[in-house]
Amino acid sequence: MTGTHALVLGGSLAGMLAAAALSGHVDRVTVVDRDRFGDDGDRKGVPQGRHAHVLMAGGSRALDELLPGLTASLLDAGAQHLGMPNRLLVFTQSGWLPRLDEMQFVIGCSRALLDGVVRQRVLDRVDLVEATDVVGLLGDRTKVTGARVRDRDTGVKRDIGADFVVDATGRGSKADSWLADLGLPPVQDERVDSGMVYATCLYRVPPGAGEDFPGLSIQGDPRSSRFGQGGALVPIEGRRWIVSLAGTRGGEPEISPEGFLAFARGLRHPAIADFISAAEPLTRPFGFHATVNRRRRYERLSSWPSGFVAIGDAACTFNPVYGHGMTVVARQAVALRDGLAGHGFDGAAAKRLQREFARVMDDAWAMAVSQDLRYPGTIGPARGRITRLQERYLDRLVLAATGRPTVTRAQLDAYTLSTPLRKLMLSPRVILDVLRGPGRPPTTDAPYTEAESRVLRGVDEPR
Ligand SMILES: Cc1cc2nc3c(=O)[nH]c(=O)nc-3n(C[C@H](O)[C@H](O)[C@H](O)COP(=O)(O)OP(=O)(O)OC[C@H]3O[C@@H](n4cnc5c(N)ncnc54)[C@H](O)[C@@H]3O)c2cc1C
Repeated sequence: MTGTHALVLGGSLAGMLAAAALSGHVDRVTVVDRDRFGDDGDRKGVPQGRHAHVLMAGGSRALDELLPGLTASLLDAGAQHLGMPNRLLVFTQSGWLPRLDEMQFVIGCSRALLDGVVRQRVLDRVDLVEATDVVGLLGDRTKVTGARVRDRDTGVKRDIGADFVVDATGRGSKADSWLADLGLPPVQDERVDSGMVYATCLYRVPPGAGEDFPGLSIQGDPRSSRFGQGGALVPIEGRRWIVSLAGTRGGEPEISPEGFLAFARGLRHPAIADFISAAEPLTRPFGFHATVNRRRRYERLSSWPSGFVAIGDAACTFNPVYGHGMTVVARQAVALRDGLAGHGFDGAAAKRLQREFARVMDDAWAMAVSQDLRYPGTIGPARGRITRLQERYLDRLVLAATGRPTVTRAQLDAYTLSTPLRKLMLSPRVILDVLRGPGRPPTTDAPYTEAESRVLRGVDEPR
């Protein structure tokens, strides 16, 4: 084989998007994954895929930039556009966001649908090597030249050479030890662990509920001295709701049908319990425990080999409750494409790209970690005085967002990773409105329409 060759380790979202980004810059792209890819359905290699996954507006725009029309294809396949704050109703630590016209949005669909639609768009540009484990990197401390892989059926190992290698093997990535095997120094590994446990169940949307029936997000309250508990009910394709509930250390959900409903009922607002009581469960609840925020600081290593980068969860995982992982992946893939266009893939290009990936993940990391560190059972560094001052400002901001549309918009812009966090923190107009406060008492009455209330009241009517 001649020409330039890129090798992508892992073929999930980050792997496929990295392959799309690389395909315009090298002659061939090979993607290796330990799984076999069926047409759809959940994959063993992506166990988190069974839980609620929302794609933020910032991620949807990045996907469209990389693969034009991708969001439209998702919507055609049944994904739901959930405008905020009009169709995804959010109960914040300070009460409900007002149900104003759409300011931002998230896309609700199963992870299998999202991965399937992305894969369809990328597969014709790549050679896919399935059922194959990556077991190490080739090269030396100055340059990565490929990877060693092992066929899962035969156990036979072989080497695949490449001019550029992307690690996209997700949260279980072993790239830090593979790099150590090549002689690189240890990578700084930052962790903040709230002990969050997820429980998820699928429901059929009740008959009566219209096409634009809303979704819900009930958030924890980090100001209280108790654990954090929250949940999300997300409309997805096939007229289903995927409902994920979560609690930090000491307040974890029980993984049983009775425990699930009781947990939903005990949240700071019973809206999710009211919705699911009106709906038919399609599954039993299932759980997930690996929710630690973990950042491998590759960008801080004094030396970095050319020809290698780590992208997506392989470089950084976030507590999933903030819903940012896939959006960060999509934005990093755009950064990969643009970086390759600007600097190619030789020499210091990889180091420059790894730094850019770190910048892309900074806001999501700051939001997740600053919130998680406030919960009493969280394992992580102590908060300093400046952090506590920032928290007090953010608490006022969340309160103001329940009554001041300027602040609501700024908060949603930052939350959906549509604009940088510093804009939220430093905009004079926002600061002024934060200081003025919400202008009216926050409400705990859910902002349902009359038609939505009727569907929910149907619960109590004889069938
Ligand atoms: C419970 C939960 C809920 C979440 N909800 C959201 C959400 O609402 N919104 C959001 O944006 N993000 C969410 N996330 C985060 C999201 O799942 C990840 O950010 C995203 O999957 C990262 O994609 P990735 O391709 O980097 O890794 P993954 O999707 O984990 O894929 C890794 C791939 O690498 C393969 N692989 C692993 N090791 C090897 C190996 N040695 N050899 C070959 N192949 C290998 C695997 O088979 C897999 O295909 C959630 C996460 C969890 C845990």
